[in-house]
Amino acid sequence: MEADRIFINTGAKPDVPGIPGITSDLVYTSAELLDLNQWPARLAIIGGGYIGMEFASIYAGFGSKVTLLIRGNRFMPKEDSDIATEVRRTLENKGVQVLLETEVSEIVDTGPTAKLIVKSADGTVGELEAEAVLTATGRSANTEGLNLQAAGVEVTNRGFIKVDDKLRTNVPHIWAIGDVNGGPQFTYISLDDYRIIKDQLYGKDLRTTEDRKNIPYSVFIDPPLSHVGLTEEEAIRRGYSVKAAKLAAAASPRARQFKQTEGLLKAVIDVETNALLGFTMFAAESSEVVNTVSTFMNTGQPYTVLRDTIFTHPSMSEILNDLLSTI
Ligand SMILES: Cc1cc2nc3c(=O)[nH]c(=O)nc-3n(C[C@H](O)[C@H](O)[C@H](O)COP(=O)(O)OP(=O)(O)OC[C@H]3O[C@@H](n4cnc5c(N)ncnc54)[C@H](O)[C@@H]3O)c2cc1C
Repeated sequence: MEADRIFINTGAKPDVPGIPGITSDLVYTSAELLDLNQWPARLAIIGGGYIGMEFASIYAGFGSKVTLLIRGNRFMPKEDSDIATEVRRTLENKGVQVLLETEVSEIVDTGPTAKLIVKSADGTVGELEAEAVLTATGRSANTEGLNLQAAGVEVTNRGFIKVDDKLRTNVPHIWAIGDVNGGPQFTYISLDDYRIIKDQLYGKDLRTTEDRKNIPYSVFIDPPLSHVGLTEEEAIRRGYSVKAAKLAAAASPRARQFKQTEGLLKAVIDVETNALLGFTMFAAESSEVVNTVSTFMNTGQPYTVLRDTIFTHPSMSEILNDLLSTI
C-alpha cells in the first residue's frame, strides 16, 4: 500500500501464555469474556495486572467465586504497599481469593469445567477448578500482517513500533499512534497522540510526548483506584525527601452517604518545595477526583493551595482539604 502519509493505529492484543491446555474453550481473553452469555460460578484469573483486577472485582460483584493467580510475590507491585494492602483486603472481603507466587502449569478441560494445575513457590502442586479461565497476562502490539519489514519500520525488542517524541517512526511519512507504539496503554493517551499529530500537520508543531507530565490512571475496581504522579516508594527511590498524608475514605461524608466507606487516600509531598509529587485515591469517584488533582499538579503550585481550595459539600473532592490538612 502506498500513501503520502501513513498512520499506524492498530492497537494491542492480549498475550496468551504458552500454558499446555490454554486453547481450551473455557479459557478466555478479556474481550472474549465480555461476550460470554453464561455466568461462571467460578472464575480463575491468570495475571494480577489492572485488567485481571478489574475482572476480579466485576465478577466477584456478580457473585462468582474468583481466584486471582499471580506469579510475582507482591500484590500490585507498582502501588505503595499500604494502598495495595487496602485493595487486597477489600477484594478479599468480596470473596476474591488472591494467590501470590503461583504458576499455572497446565489447564485440563474436563468438559463442564477447567482444572488448573497450579504450582506454588514452595513447590507444592495443587488443583483449582473453574467454569471459566481469564488470561490477563499483558498485551502486545497488533502488527501482525502489516509487514512492517517491507517498509523498514523498526520495532522495539517487545515488538512495539519505535517512535520519537513526535510519534514519527524511523521511516519518513510513517507515524505510529496509540497502544501500538508502546506508550501508556490508555484511550486518552491514544487521543493525546492524535493531538500531537494534528499539531504537526495543521498546527505549530510544538506538541510532543515530553509535554505529558502527570498522567493519571484509574483501575475500575469497586471502589475505583486512581493515581497520578509518584508513589511514596518511587519518590523515595528517586531521592526526594517526602512527607505523606493518609486518610481513610470513611472520613468523607460523601463516601458515608454512598455507603462506600472502604478505601484509603494518600498524598506525597516534597519536603523541600511543598510540591505535590503524587496522589492515590482508593475510594468512590476517585476516577473524577484524580483529574482535579492532576490538573492542579500541572500548575506546579504548593500543596497548600489545594489544601485551602473551596470545594462543594457533600462531594468526594472535599476530602482533599482534609487529606492535605493531615500534614
Ligand atoms: C479490558 C480492557 C480494559 C481497558 N480499560 C481501559 C480504561 O478503563 N481506560 C482507558 O483509558 N483504557 C482502557 N483500556 C485500554 C484502551 O482500550 C486502549 O489503550 C485503547 O483502546 C488504545 O487505543 P488505540 O487507538 O491504540 O487502539 P484500539 O482502540 O485498540 O483500536 C485499534 C483498531 O485497529 C484495528 N486493527 C488492528 N489491526 C488492523 C489491521 N491490520 N488493519 C486494520 N485495522 C486493524 C482494531 O481492530 C481496532 O479497531 C482497556 C483495555 C482493555 C483490554
